[in-house]
Amino acid sequence: MGEIDGNVLAAKSFSQFGVLHMFGVVGIPVTSLATRAVSLGIRFIAFHNEQSAGYAASAYGYLTSRPGIFLTVSGPGCVHGLAGLSNGTTNTWPTVMISGSCNQNDVGRGDFQELDQIQAVKPFTKFAIKAKHISEIPNCVAQVLANSVVNRPGGVYLDLPTDVLHQKVSESEAESLLTEAKYLAEKIKKSHVISVESSKIQEAVSLLRKAERPLIVFGKGAAYAKAEDELKKLVEKTGIPFLPTPMGKGLLPDDHPLAASAARSLAIGKCDVAIVIGARLNWLLHFGEEPKWSKDVKFVLVDVSKEEIELRKPFLGLVGDGKEVLEVLNKEIKDDPFCLGSTHPWVEAISSKVKDNGVKMEAQLAKDVVPFNFLTPMRIIRDAISEFGGSPAPVVVSEGANTMDVGRSVLVQKEPRTRLDAGTWGTMGVGLGYCIAAAVAYPDRLVVAVEGDSGYGFSAMEVETLVRYQLPVVVIVFNNGGVYGGDRRSAEEKHGPHKEDPAPTSFVPNAGYHTMMEAFGGKGYLVGTPDELKSALSESFSARKPAVINVTIDPYAGSESGRMQHKN
Ligand code: ADP
Repeated sequence: MGEIDGNVLAAKSFSQFGVLHMFGVVGIPVTSLATRAVSLGIRFIAFHNEQSAGYAASAYGYLTSRPGIFLTVSGPGCVHGLAGLSNGTTNTWPTVMISGSCNQNDVGRGDFQELDQIQAVKPFTKFAIKAKHISEIPNCVAQVLANSVVNRPGGVYLDLPTDVLHQKVSESEAESLLTEAKYLAEKIKKSHVISVESSKIQEAVSLLRKAERPLIVFGKGAAYAKAEDELKKLVEKTGIPFLPTPMGKGLLPDDHPLAASAARSLAIGKCDVAIVIGARLNWLLHFGEEPKWSKDVKFVLVDVSKEEIELRKPFLGLVGDGKEVLEVLNKEIKDDPFCLGSTHPWVEAISSKVKDNGVKMEAQLAKDVVPFNFLTPMRIIRDAISEFGGSPAPVVVSEGANTMDVGRSVLVQKEPRTRLDAGTWGTMGVGLGYCIAAAVAYPDRLVVAVEGDSGYGFSAMEVETLVRYQLPVVVIVFNNGGVYGGDRRSAEEKHGPHKEDPAPTSFVPNAGYHTMMEAFGGKGYLVGTPDELKSALSESFSARKPAVINVTIDPYAGSESGRMQHKN
């Protein structure tokens, strides 16, 4: 029997745990690990920048409920990767960063790309470990994979020093190390099983039953838990209106008769009991406080994280997996059913507001405004997705201040986990990484990115990655010449020695983003009218090949900071 080195043992370890995909950037000392992983059947998607690879891994974790893994080189590679790792932790998505690191014997002597990586990743991870000897590799892999998904999912880190990757063990020893690691992973998962607190279920049902204006709110934690069937049962059995958070959109169809999104202010402002499933009462939900919510609202929080419930101090907290809690809740309701019905005053108030606001919005959308504002192209994209997007529905990736805000209200989500956006951290620059993750995780779906030019620019080089792997991704860039818009300063507003410089908010006007895509052999379109946009969308959606549609938007359209002007 021969010997294998640390790279091969690491690749075998990931393979034995059923890892199918890895994202990353290769280089010293991890190139061989990536190559070995590929030869074991793992698809390795090679990026230009660790930041995007990390964003891809985090979104992959969310979309598949399996650890999303990315590989980086040491030192600066690890630092670039922190963006993706922290994004995974903040969004509570299982994300595994593996970085090579310098020789252990050379630490402190200024080795090539030297950094105390375990220390560097600490604020952004729930678990971090270094394999100090080749024999520790399989157990370390087991620990990072299991810890990324147990309890509240999040970012974890595995450090693989150069000397460890070059050490060798016999193949028979490797086999016994791999077997031992399997048991360890099972043990970790078993020790973290959370059982539903059934005693509180009755109380939750009784609150909902007695409520005059109940509301069901759900977020990306419910999407991660794949709770869509149980949510459907809960909504349809009780007749309670529901409100998804931006990434909760699609768990139930946006056009469902009980969808309250178009009456959001009324729904959250007037509800007396809100059951919130897999969504934090953070800035996105106005901290659950006045004046957006009523003073007396009673929150029932369902979350896998006990700490989250302790932090928010709701009226009632149910710790557990969203899907499992809803199963028990639905069973409890089934034994003594109740349903508000469409003539219930609360349901009627919400549906009439939804209708009114819908009519107003459609009137705005119906106008063909040229040069484009944000609404006209968004309507055309909405219609094209429904006409040519195919089935199953495309995954929509959205970022940019105005583009994301407008897209959230206009684009229609009808299937779970089909919307990825800047998320809890408001992270811009995630778009291309998310597109690649979605195309890899859901190969039967088209991916449509609707991006501001600023969000796109963070990682635009990854369009080459789209072409290299021939991923069915159409990136639509809303090009208004800058962050929030073009240079809008009047002559009076320009002062000082650098007054001839462009505004900090502006980019080169009319940048040819579509030609970047063409440079790599993908399809590029430049459009400025409804007909040009419709034709580019129908052609690119049908082709299912990498494309960039550069949409010229009026540089004066859109407002600074989108809908969050109060914070800037
Ligand atoms: P959103 O951005 O959609 O409002 P958040 O990211 O704020 O959602 O909240 C998601 C919540 O879901 C987190 O508090 C997380 O702990 C929780 N969560 C993650 N996985 C599960 C699960 N399987 N079941 C229930 N809650 C979950």
